Amino acid sequence: MKAADFSYHEAVNLQDAIKIKAQDDEAVILAGGQSLLPALNMRLSSPTCLIDISKISGLNEIKIDGQTLFIGALATHSDVMNNKIVKDNMPCMIDILKMVAHPAIRNKGTHGGSIAYGDPAAELPALAVATNAEIIVSGQNGERLINAKEFYLGLFETGINQDEIVVGIKYPLLKQGQKIVFDEVCRRHGDYAMAGLIANIMGSKNDI
Ligand SMILES: Cc1cc2nc3c(=O)[nH]c(=O)nc-3n(C[C@H](O)[C@H](O)[C@H](O)COP(=O)(O)OP(=O)(O)OC[C@H]3O[C@@H](n4cnc5c(N)ncnc54)[C@H](O)[C@@H]3O)c2cc1C
Repeated sequence: MKAADFSYHEAVNLQDAIKIKAQDDEAVILAGGQSLLPALNMRLSSPTCLIDISKISGLNEIKIDGQTLFIGALATHSDVMNNKIVKDNMPCMIDILKMVAHPAIRNKGTHGGSIAYGDPAAELPALAVATNAEIIVSGQNGERLINAKEFYLGLFETGINQDEIVVGIKYPLLKQGQKIVFDEVCRRHGDYAMAGLIANIMGSKNDI
């Protein structure tokens, strides 16, 4: 099966992408394409236009921002897994990402794409909700932060407005004694989970 016809726009910067998205209700963002392209080919989605944000510079930054770990939307799963700041501050994220698909997909799939797609079987939305992360979206009226618990409205359904794009995610830094425990059941390693569990445990200093 092949995708239905669509037009393609390679965004030169964030404002350009927001402008095109605001003008067309049926336009969608293309990031790593690892979820969107299969959906197009299976005709589960037939957008009028793909707005490719993958060449926008500066959207893949990973840094400590105050008391949070900031991950730019275009950081790939592999970027995050190989990042020292993540390793030092949120090693559980690396363990969780090892369960996401396979290296080829992790080299293209983006953090923001996984968060924005809101697949109920995906690992990162669960991590964002469990850790009380905030999703930063940017639109015609500027930026706003949405708590992950309010960001997800249902299966594949989020609070992103038509003119908005996810630009980053802020995870509160883990406190001393705090642990994130994650496990999932799937047929083969790297498959989407059939069932998953994530727990955010606030332990005492002695539990470390
Ligand atoms: C074989 C296979 C196995 C996989 N297994 C897993 C798995 O086990 N666990 C898992 O979590 N994922 C899995 N994935 C999905 C993978 O993690 C994707 O990378 C991820 O879901 C989407 O990221 P992307 O950058 O590819 O987004 P895209 O495919 O480009 O986009 C996905 C959706 O998000 C929207 N979008 C993307 N970026 C933004 C943004 N910045 N702002 C607003 N909207 C945006 C797009 O419009 C689209 O609707 C798998 C994929 C494949 C092909």
